[in-house]
Amino acid sequence: MPTAEETGARLAEIPNLTVSRGTPLCRYTRFGIGGPADLYAETDSVEAFIAALTAAHASGLETMVIGGGTNLIVSDEGFRGIMLRYRADGLRATGNSVSADAGAVLQDLVDFSISRGLKGLETLAGIPGSTGAAVYGNAGAYGHSISERVVEVRFYDGAAVRVFRNEECQFHYRESIFKSHKEWIIFSTELLLEPANAAVLRQTADDIMKVRNEKFPVTMKCAGSIFKNLLLRDLPREAAAGVPAAVVREGKVPAAYFLEQVGAKGIERGQIRVATYHANLIYNAGGGSAADLWTLIAELKARVRRQFGIELEEEVQYVGFD
Ligand SMILES: Cc1cc2nc3c(=O)[nH]c(=O)nc-3n(C[C@H](O)[C@H](O)[C@H](O)COP(=O)(O)OP(=O)(O)OC[C@H]3O[C@@H](n4cnc5c(N)ncnc54)[C@H](O)[C@@H]3O)c2cc1C
Repeated sequence: MPTAEETGARLAEIPNLTVSRGTPLCRYTRFGIGGPADLYAETDSVEAFIAALTAAHASGLETMVIGGGTNLIVSDEGFRGIMLRYRADGLRATGNSVSADAGAVLQDLVDFSISRGLKGLETLAGIPGSTGAAVYGNAGAYGHSISERVVEVRFYDGAAVRVFRNEECQFHYRESIFKSHKEWIIFSTELLLEPANAAVLRQTADDIMKVRNEKFPVTMKCAGSIFKNLLLRDLPREAAAGVPAAVVREGKVPAAYFLEQVGAKGIERGQIRVATYHANLIYNAGGGSAADLWTLIAELKARVRRQFGIELEEEVQYVGFD
């Protein structure tokens, strides 16, 4: 097996690919946490990306794709493998269809659609990160998810570039087929929107942004909500019976409701804290470690399990934890 050094040298020969060794991933995560990746490579070229993946697979090193790093918890030890980023960020509109490269910032896609008087993505305003990851995790807010607008997704399965229609993506709440095939890399997506008044769409997006910026200040080192909300119908009967009707939205109970009951607000481990105003928001107050973040998350899950018999599930993705 080639060493990371030899693989790095091989990657460096691929045109249009930028490669670095021992790259601290804390630079690439919104939490500002994470040790080094053995290798980090990025490109906006599909050909270079596939060549890099092929070289990576031949090396036997593990690979992972990163977007904006806004939903990742990377271990303090980092990632023993090759972290890849696909940066192409083109946005194209034809009639009511918009096609977006995976590396496009989701907010740019939202703004692009709004400026063309196309409705359907405005409630996603302010969700940080890339379009590819938004498809991967079926990002959403205010009762809507990106999957409602996705027509098809173009991705690489390790052997060939393929296209899945919406129904093949198996979208549901914060889930898609891509989450169970982490080796598949999304290159682009096509979305179908509806004509609408651009000024009205802009106002909707701006109103949402205002609320979001108060909840998640732009400099806050966090991943948004740590845990997924829960479907009321899936809860144990006793836990479901105790949930006030007023907290249920579209059949879901916010994870924050249970976290609040177990006293999560304001608790801390080292420099990692739960917000005092939102029990499902954990942030790095500065110099926090992944170990403390992990411990705090485990503690919150244990408290909710003990009191309600409910297993909270992380929305964030872990990197470099065994
Ligand atoms: C302040 C804040 C608020 C947030 N609010 C919301 C919200 O309201 N709703 C919501 O849904 N999310 C929210 N999030 C979470 C986050 O913004 C989304 O999960 C987002 O889609 C992650 O994008 P990213 O590019 O940063 O992905 P990353 O964190 O880099 O990666 C996330 C996952 O996507 C995978 N991935 C990335 N790119 C690709 C690709 N091209 N192909 C295949 N897999 C890929 C990665 O391997 C990883 O598993 C919030 C986060 C923050 C920090």
